[in-house]
Amino acid sequence: MTICYGLRVLVFDRFTVGAVHREWNISRDELNELLTVGLLTPDELEQVIQREYTDGLVCFASAHIQVPPAELHLKDVLNVAVDAERLTQLCVQKIKAHQPRSGLPNRILHRTSFEHCKVAPQQNVNVSVTTEGEAYMYAARLLVDGMGSTSPIACQLNCGRPFSLVCPTVGTVAHGYKVGTTPDAIDPELGEILVTTEDARNGRQLIWEAFPGHDDQVAIYLFHYAETGQPVDLLELFDDFFALLLSYKDTSNVEIIRPVYGFIPAGYNITLPWQKERKVLAYDRVISLGDAAAFQSPLTFCGFGSYVRNLRRITSLLAYALEHNLLNASDLNRIRASEAIPAVARAFSKFMIAQPNQSDKPWQVNETLNIFCRALADLGPRITNDFFKDRVGWLDYTRLVLNTPKYYPQIYKLTLATLTPTEILGWITAWLQLGRQSITLTLYQNTHKLLRRIAALLPGLRTLRSSFNSHLRHTMLEQITRNKV
Ligand SMILES: Cc1cc2nc3c(=O)[nH]c(=O)nc-3n(C[C@H](O)[C@H](O)[C@H](O)COP(=O)(O)OP(=O)(O)OC[C@H]3O[C@@H](n4cnc5c(N)ncnc54)[C@H](O)[C@@H]3O)c2cc1C
Repeated sequence: MTICYGLRVLVFDRFTVGAVHREWNISRDELNELLTVGLLTPDELEQVIQREYTDGLVCFASAHIQVPPAELHLKDVLNVAVDAERLTQLCVQKIKAHQPRSGLPNRILHRTSFEHCKVAPQQNVNVSVTTEGEAYMYAARLLVDGMGSTSPIACQLNCGRPFSLVCPTVGTVAHGYKVGTTPDAIDPELGEILVTTEDARNGRQLIWEAFPGHDDQVAIYLFHYAETGQPVDLLELFDDFFALLLSYKDTSNVEIIRPVYGFIPAGYNITLPWQKERKVLAYDRVISLGDAAAFQSPLTFCGFGSYVRNLRRITSLLAYALEHNLLNASDLNRIRASEAIPAVARAFSKFMIAQPNQSDKPWQVNETLNIFCRALADLGPRITNDFFKDRVGWLDYTRLVLNTPKYYPQIYKLTLATLTPTEILGWITAWLQLGRQSITLTLYQNTHKLLRRIAALLPGLRTLRSSFNSHLRHTMLEQITRNKV
């Protein structure tokens, strides 16, 4: 907001601003968005990349399943390991060095905790904080809540339930793993995106991820999908991590550098057409973003990826809102990450959660995921890549859904056992909304193209074309702010 729109910003954190304590993986084309918006230069982008792999593995345990096993090799999904700390430090330096339009400097406040804020809707928001025990108050036109999954603002706005799905994740960054191409070794050219080595245990289907970083460092995570309300314990998960790591990788010479852990939230409640309630993201002059908004897909849980993919959309809409003083709750509530695809992913994520009523079939999640891999493999790499990057189109998504019963006729019975009637209805609603969005976008793109062609043929129509273009742009912006596209 400061570099691209010249606004003055103050950034604070209860610990150190820009200290991330985690690793991020993303694809190259998604990361390039940071160049497109003008946040980083190409040299800076290369500095924050630790490693880029040529292959990505998705493979689920098949020892007890009743269907043929299938695995996926993805070429451009989560294949860039980003040095998260370096990226955020670079952004902090840029914020400090940048001169906003007002001529007054930006501010960075470390060890500063949010206490509360008071909104004067017509004027500003007063934010009370404590810095090392001392109380301070700052006034601003807008407060952006980026306090993550435990944000007190998101919690208050959503009556104590800011998200409905969660991915508890633990792991380590370590070095000394055996290098090679056998399953127990680390291949520096391969990111292991989703791997299971056994069936569900204690009602949880545990999933591994292994991402080589710089030199011989590797980040390995263990996680599972859960709904809020289910008991979730990160220390217990760490016990499983250390007990099971030996069955996943050869750890004979491994030295741990640091632990990595957290809860990654996803906010999708099932909303039926007649229900008004949606996730609340804003109050007058206050808006939640990132994990506080929890709008990443409940399938991939890639919060950093979601930030990057929606960066242009969110920042341009925020700039528009600030410029036109559209800072009340209902206007700000429309500024949200694109929802259509994460909403349809909600139903899929339920198939990744071991169901208590299937305790006699601990292999069920692995079986479903093997089928899912087979259906995606047959649809080809483009659709598979799109699926894992939260940008699958309506038609491709529909083909995936329609193809699955061909491989697995039991899917209907399984769906009825996995989703409640409300969830099935919610999923159909989300699917229809994705369809409406796809049609609107196709219509817009085709009208735009057609008009450009006609106007190019008839020079006299240039003025008409430019006024029509600006009308279309205006309508699109209106549509986006009203969350129709
Ligand atoms: C182990 C792990 C691995 C991950 N890997 C990936 C990945 O490979 N790719 C990907 O796309 N995503 C990944 N994610 C998800 C990603 O890290 C998050 O979605 C992302 O960090 C969200 O950013 P955020 O700024 O919204 O929240 P956070 O990163 O949680 O930051 C919130 C900040 O708010 C501060 N804060 C909280 N309360 C207060 C308060 N009262 N006052 C002041 N400050 C406060 C905190 O100190 C913190 O710095 C991973 C997550 C985890 C846990």
